Parts: sequence; structure tokens; C-alpha cells
Amino acid sequence: MKGLVLDAVWEPRSDYVVSDWEEKTGKAITGNSIWRHPKLKVRDWADPTLGPQDVLLEIRACGVCGSDMHFYETDEDGYILYPGLTKFPTILGHEFSGKVVEMGKDVTTLQVGDMVTVEEMIWCGRCIPCRNGYPNHCTNLEEIGFTIPGAFANYIAVDEKFCWKIDAIAERFGSEEKGYEIGALTEPTCVAYNAMFERAGGFRPGHYVSVFGAGPIGLAAIGLAKAAGAGIIAAFEISPQRIELAQAVGADHVYDPREVNAGEVLMELSKGEGFDFHVEAAGAPELIVPEMEKALAINSKIVQIGRAAQRVPMYLEAFQVRRAQAFGAQGHSGHETFPNVIRMVAAGRLDLSPIITARYGLEETVDAIARSTERADGKILVKPN
Ligand SMILES: [Zn+2]
Ligand SMILES: [Zn+2]
Repeated sequence: MKGLVLDAVWEPRSDYVVSDWEEKTGKAITGNSIWRHPKLKVRDWADPTLGPQDVLLEIRACGVCGSDMHFYETDEDGYILYPGLTKFPTILGHEFSGKVVEMGKDVTTLQVGDMVTVEEMIWCGRCIPCRNGYPNHCTNLEEIGFTIPGAFANYIAVDEKFCWKIDAIAERFGSEEKGYEIGALTEPTCVAYNAMFERAGGFRPGHYVSVFGAGPIGLAAIGLAKAAGAGIIAAFEISPQRIELAQAVGADHVYDPREVNAGEVLMELSKGEGFDFHVEAAGAPELIVPEMEKALAINSKIVQIGRAAQRVPMYLEAFQVRRAQAFGAQGHSGHETFPNVIRMVAAGRLDLSPIITARYGLEETVDAIARSTERADGKILVKPN
């Protein structure tokens, strides 16, 4: 089959100490300290082989993620920008949907022809965090499209336990094709859901919600805030296209943060009471958290979803006086997240279909990722089959 393969050179920076585990497994914990001179190319790759509990999926749609962009872009020394767990060469792509075309002999929960989307985090179920109910913090994690072959490809083999059926989404939107496209948005939407409702415990209907950053995760956060009954949703985003998308999925007010003082705007909108729930989905907390701090309602929450290797100035006195809390979140697995997001989409409560702004074939995947570096689109989809 064909797939978009990332090749890179294992060349640790001179000041980076490679751990025994990294040496042994060939996995970099801090990708941008080790992987240099990345090359992305659609090329031949061995067909996946099926384990007894695996299904073979014909991939129908796979979204381009910010992390894919950070494999394509490098710093001045030629290192990938992506900071996380990685092992190359591998096929990229992790926000996807597909059709079951073959089953391992012990598969019991799926059938040939089923439409599914898949978790990206391959949690082991055996380590202490997994056994304690925290699969997003698995210590034996593999990640589809980061450490094992991903979904910018014709086929993928995955254990049935990571698959979630999306036929109800196809029914809601009236076609299989739409079901696969919208189904491929499930993974990033689950990242926002996990952060807002599992980690931070959500907000009450009527609460005022701010969302900083209207990339795919921020747009999903806006859609979820609307579906959950937010009183006012205010968003901050610099791209004019994304400002429009933020309005399309439910933001009441969207500002370019370079043109306003975000904290003051939130205080004006709330007539001095502050906002109850703040979502950081821009990956610039060192700039954004100080603005959120100016607009903390009593009992308010800040939830950090964007990733940034940055220290953040925080004035904890404000958190004491305003009875506020800050939450860190990563991942999308467990905690009913996939099934609840699929339910909301299938019920018509959450419609993120407007955020799909471009579609490419598998052969054009490098162009799709190059386009994402313009940071203007909502979600760009690759449709391999
Ligand atoms: Zn992603
Ligand atoms: Zn585990």
C-alpha cells in the first residue's frame, strides 16, 4: 500500500542526554531534541498484518493536525518542531475514520462493513495509571501516527478496543461519505471534551466561556461550549478565516487579540463579573493566562489544552481571591469521551461540519500539510480511498 512516511535522522542535540529507554526503544521522548532533517513522502509501505484482536480498516478520511504541521516545519538547526513522543520512520496521520474490511479471528465487537473512528492513544491497560483508570497517562503508550504507523495511508490495522462506531453520524448527515468526514473530527473534538468536561469538570449552563485560539481544537471547544449551554462564548483568534469559523460554530463574540486587551474585553462583556470558564487552545499560555487572570469570575476555571514548552507567569493571589482553579489536560481516551462526543454529533447537538475547509487525495498529503502551515484553515482532510 501507499502511505505518507516521515523519515528523519536520529541526531540528538549536543546538550540532550539520551536516556537508556530512548536508546533501547528507538523512541524519542522529546522529539525536537533528537529528530533532524525530516523528509515527508508518499511512498510504498508494507501492508499491515492483523493480530487476532485487530481489524483492518480501509481509511476514508484523516485530518491534518497541528502536530503534523510540526513534523513538516523545522527550527533553524533542522530539528522537527514537535516536542513529544516519536519513532521514525513511520506513517503520519491520527484523526481518522474508516471501514472494517477484515477481522482478526478473535474480534467480537465489530463486523466487516462497520464504520468506525479510532483513538490515537494506544494505552496498554496493564500499567499502574491504566489500571487506576487514567489511560491518557499510560506509561507504555504507543501513538498512532507518532510511534506506530498512522492513517495517511490506504489501510491500518488496529485492536478493536480502540474503535468506536460512527454509523449514527452517517445517519444524521445523510450519507456514508459525510459520516466518514465528520467522523474523522471525533478525535480532536474528544481532546477538547476531555479537557473541558472530564479534567476541569465542566461549567454550569449560563456560565460565560472564553476560548483562546480557534484552530480545530478551539473550534471544537466553542461548539461544545454552545452545546453545553454557555451563557456567552467569547473567542480570540488572529486568522480572519478562523474568526469566521468560530462564529459559524457558536462564538457570540470573536476578537483579534492583537487589537484588543483580552482581559478587559471579558470584563466588559461580563459587566465586571468575570468569565467562569477559560479554555487555552492556542499554545501560548505565557501570553494568555495573564489575560485570563484579569477576568476570573468567582469560582472560575482555566483549562490548558494547547501545548507549549513555556513557563507561565501566574499571580496566585488572584486565584485565591477569586476562588479560581487551573487544570492541565492531555489526551482523549477513557471517561466515556468518545461515545459521548459521537452521541452529541449524531443527535445534531454538535455540528462541526463547517470547520472542514479543504480535501486532498492521498498522493497530495504533503501539499495538505504544507497548506496547514498557513494556519488559516479549520480542518484539512486527506481522503485516501
Ligand atoms: Zn492531533
Ligand atoms: Zn498503560
